Amino acid sequence: MPAQRFARPSEVPGLAARRVAADILDGVLHRRRTLDDQLDGAAAHPALKSLADRDRALMRRMVATVLRRLGTLGALLARLLDRGVPTDAPRAQSALLIGAAQILWMDVPDHAAVDLSVRLVQSDRRAAKYAGLVNAVLRRCAREGRAIIDELKPQALDIPPWMLQRWTAHYGEATAREMALALAHEPSLDVTVKSDPAQWAARLHGEVLPTGTVRTLLSGSVTMLPGFGEGQWWVQDAAAALPTRLFGDVSGKRIADLCAAPGGKTAQLALAGARVTAIDRSPARVARLRENLARLALPAETIVADAVEWQGDAQGNGEGFDGVLVDAPCTSTGTIRRHPDVAWLRQESDFTALTTLQQRLLRKAVTLLKPGGTLVYCTCSLEPEEGEQVIAALLSSESSLRRAPIEAGEVAGLASIITAGGDLRTLPCHLPNEDPRLGGLDGFYAARLVRL
Ligand code: SAM
Repeated sequence: MPAQRFARPSEVPGLAARRVAADILDGVLHRRRTLDDQLDGAAAHPALKSLADRDRALMRRMVATVLRRLGTLGALLARLLDRGVPTDAPRAQSALLIGAAQILWMDVPDHAAVDLSVRLVQSDRRAAKYAGLVNAVLRRCAREGRAIIDELKPQALDIPPWMLQRWTAHYGEATAREMALALAHEPSLDVTVKSDPAQWAARLHGEVLPTGTVRTLLSGSVTMLPGFGEGQWWVQDAAAALPTRLFGDVSGKRIADLCAAPGGKTAQLALAGARVTAIDRSPARVARLRENLARLALPAETIVADAVEWQGDAQGNGEGFDGVLVDAPCTSTGTIRRHPDVAWLRQESDFTALTTLQQRLLRKAVTLLKPGGTLVYCTCSLEPEEGEQVIAALLSSESSLRRAPIEAGEVAGLASIITAGGDLRTLPCHLPNEDPRLGGLDGFYAARLVRL
């Protein structure tokens, strides 16, 4: 992509942000590229650097809003377009989606949203012929869009139908619906603090959740917020902060964190006084883990390795670890609130490959544990194949392990997040709040096992 395409000095204000948003949206919807991949690192969109901070934040919000409301937007556009969304010009589709999202859910004047979407299609060779259509549809969206959405609400949900079917089968119809509805809201910023949550809640204009996480609605760059530079807290969803609690008192104990990067759970364990060996197979992610630990001034041994193959526990004298954490790679369907692209990028066929890796990591974890040691397995997936079923298979093949059921008291008394079998299962609709932006949890599964 030539750089000058994005740096036109005389360009209408706000158009570059829309163009980058449309490119990134096309990347997710038509080239199956993740948002993280397009927003950060070596493969990030080349024009991001030339956007001012404000435009970059606006662009991210536009893309996230479209992906978070994609089911609703699809149904709305189907109503407004007699012949459906044009299929021969992806830019016409992205301009319609971005325009409608601004009109319906963002603080952008309708006329600006319409005008900038029309300019977007005009500047695209294949889409230019749809400028009139985009103009007419978005104007109608501004007039009638909200009423149509109210009508559509009972049917249109913002996850793919196959995902809803799976959740319905596992959680029941009513809960699956509540989960899907919870995903439509922009989530809060959750942080784990090193100490004094009440003080940090006040400084970050947030509140302390029963679990100790500080939850705030502040947005923008986290690095600019008070306490970040001084390493007083790190970003971590309230549900993601629960699995490490299942080890109990870890002070002085040796814990192996087999899938550690970027290090949220390593940091919790180190803060609680554990001697942590943090392993991850991604060199780039281990670099981030090390940066994070350095900022937080927390100690841990960090190793780049495939945990399944790792043989290097030199410090343990063959004794094994007191605890092993497997925060396994998974389909991440529990994080759709924060990563709305996941809903549209995942396919049902993804489960099998990941389940095999999860089982291999668990089998390795068992060999690293000392007798009496604790194994905590967790995933940020809502799918039983990656949670309950992986653990059931392990328990039926490993006679040296037994489940140590989790008590509500260990997770701030939140009985609704403990399953009948004694595992932890959080859902996007848990921890409801009058202000939906302050409610919800990422979907996590965790089980605690003990080696006999
Ligand atoms: N525990 C981390 C935290 O709290 O910040 C998040 C871990 S993330 C869910 C899963 C991690 O597993 C990724 O960083 C990925 O690179 C790593 N991973 C995947 N396969 C692995 C393997 N075979 N060995 C070690 N790490 C692996």
